[in-house]
Amino acid sequence: MPSVCEALSAIEVMQAAAAARAEEAEKRKRRSKDFYASQPWRRLRYAALRANREKHGCITCEVCGSTEGPFDCDHITPLSKDWSKRLDPANVQIACRACNFGKGNRDSIDWREPAP
Ligand SMILES: [Zn+2]
Repeated sequence: MPSVCEALSAIEVMQAAAAARAEEAEKRKRRSKDFYASQPWRRLRYAALRANREKHGCITCEVCGSTEGPFDCDHITPLSKDWSKRLDPANVQIACRACNFGKGNRDSIDWREPAP
């Protein structure tokens, strides 16, 4: 059985680890918020919307084909999985809000191309 001092030390270690995880999560959240407000992202987003409109005749969800907005510019490979692809034009597709929220960061299907 651990002594009181050992138990308190273990609790302090766990609290420090939890604080470090919370700080890291806050950093990721701030980085993401700053990124989505940045001019490079807004330019890429606009270019993707424009290319989608030229391809389909009107802005169209690449996943379900809906022409009802609002639309999101979705990262095919989620940024939580590969931050380096955040401004890669090949890593974005247009998705309606429902499809984008349904996808979340759980898969990396490129809906722009027909299924193999
Ligand atoms: Zn959709």
